[in-house]
Amino acid sequence: MDIKQYYTGPIQVNTYLCADENSKEAFIIDPGMACKPLDNYIESNDYHIKYIILTHGHGDHICGVPHYKQMFGAPVVGHKDDNFLFNDAKENLSVGMCGQKVEFLPDLYVEDGDELQVGNMTLKIIHTPGHSPGGIGILVGNVLFSGDTLFANSIGRTDFRGGSFRTLYTSVHQKFFILPDETYVLPGHMGVTTIGHEKQYNPFL
Ligand SMILES: [Zn+2]
Ligand SMILES: [Zn+2]
Repeated sequence: MDIKQYYTGPIQVNTYLCADENSKEAFIIDPGMACKPLDNYIESNDYHIKYIILTHGHGDHICGVPHYKQMFGAPVVGHKDDNFLFNDAKENLSVGMCGQKVEFLPDLYVEDGDELQVGNMTLKIIHTPGHSPGGIGILVGNVLFSGDTLFANSIGRTDFRGGSFRTLYTSVHQKFFILPDETYVLPGHMGVTTIGHEKQYNPFL
């Protein structure tokens, strides 16, 4: 499994590329903006982008969707409970975040427990409302893409519309903290951590 991380957009969202080197199938998580180094890496490795997956609908995570959708024609994957964000530039704050109005609806909706196949990788969708109603985590092997639900030593804000600390707390405890301690957590912002570390040291949980 080949995982690459890029900072994109004005508030440095973590955009991830995750590929199966054998089949060359890959997916992108949270394209915060068009990113030339990412485009070049995909091209030079001859990766085929099968999905563009959105952990949630905030502008910092979605401003690159039009670029990547046009470039690869891959379906955009998200949870329907964030449609009020995906589909409304006033709610997703895309104009302020990236200077363009970004509004769309996902091509493919996922629910808790759904699985997607990309090459030899099985992606398990984990619905984790709290930061936003339609927030999802994506588990691939021992790697969890946690979006803005769980950060290293921190958690996502819960003061946006549809956010709830109580809900986020329950999501993390019931859906993330049941994973093995050695599971790597690759969040929507800042650095990598593990489930074990966050269970022990996260001051918010
Ligand atoms: Zn967010
Ligand atoms: Zn974010």
